Amino acid sequence: MPVLHKLAGAVVVVALVLGFVLPGDRNPPEAATAARAAATPPPAAPASVAPSPEPSGPAAPPATPTPTTPPDAPLPEAAPAARAARANELGVVPVLMYHRIVAKPEQSLDRSVGELRAELTALARDGYVPVTAAEFVRGDLDVPAGRHPVVLTFDDGTPGHFALDANGAPAPDTAVAVLREVARAHPGFRPVATFYVNEDMFGLGDRAAEGLAWLVRNGFEIGNHTRTHADLSALTKKRVRAEIGDLERRIVELTGAHTATLAYPFGAVPRTPSWARRDGDRYGFQGVFLAGWRPSESPFAAAFDRYAINRVRSEGKIKENDCRRYCSVAWLEHLRKNPGERYTSDGDPATITFPRAASDRLASHLRDRGRVY
Ligand SMILES: [Zn+2]
Repeated sequence: MPVLHKLAGAVVVVALVLGFVLPGDRNPPEAATAARAAATPPPAAPASVAPSPEPSGPAAPPATPTPTTPPDAPLPEAAPAARAARANELGVVPVLMYHRIVAKPEQSLDRSVGELRAELTALARDGYVPVTAAEFVRGDLDVPAGRHPVVLTFDDGTPGHFALDANGAPAPDTAVAVLREVARAHPGFRPVATFYVNEDMFGLGDRAAEGLAWLVRNGFEIGNHTRTHADLSALTKKRVRAEIGDLERRIVELTGAHTATLAYPFGAVPRTPSWARRDGDRYGFQGVFLAGWRPSESPFAAAFDRYAINRVRSEGKIKENDCRRYCSVAWLEHLRKNPGERYTSDGDPATITFPRAASDRLASHLRDRGRVY
């Protein structure tokens, strides 16, 4: 795996060179923004044209309802509780990206068990509530008023993420065990996360079915990360589909269910991104995640692209990959100091509340649910 991790680091560097739009004073130079625009795939076709799946097939992309509120009608006033909570459901959401969790970091992207525990504890104290990747892309964010969703994603399905002890419980000091520990100490901090796996699932061997069943039963989510951790940008359509489809078949065999989301290995996008999104009843994703260095748009924002969702690498403010500004410790600090930029829940999953000045950022098909103050 060391080579893979070096490559992942290289992809992050390349991406940094391309540049990304950042909030507030963190805007990259104009040229970098233009380069990114040129590299960004075109928006997806409307979800409503997607074929209906078989009951046993992969999930269909969510349908886009037609709004009944005319685009120029004023949005209704927010509920007093939402206003009091300073709700901003068009704010950004950190989707944290973890790789190996180990006792002692050895490679780029490794984080120690202690660092993971400290980061999750800080999130809990900052009022974050974990939601899964699938909940996030569906906009299914049942978070109490005044609190903030965060998505915890773990790539490559390594033993430090999850292992079973002799009694069939999660082994101590795995990511799963640490997350459950932090959740016990901080009521309301949901112990949920999404694991993007390859064919060697956590090194569980012949206990893979038992292990995945435990995860699913306990609210964790399995996502697709290709069979061999392939660089999809270098592959033909047929091979892209085999990499994703073969792993998907294996996951369905083990869990009885399709995955809802994909994360590109190395953040590398296929030449034609739609190859990775759906292949008949073999696979179909409601969201696709990149590697990254900035929080995601809210799933309710017009700018949200469900097939190119940004993630933030979990890391301290180290020099590598400009983590002083673009990794998790720096971003979480930035959002703590600039609370108006981040997603703050109104406490009601049915409504989407935000300050009136942000109104033009709401996705037009969600206008009926918009509330302002
Ligand atoms: Zn990976």
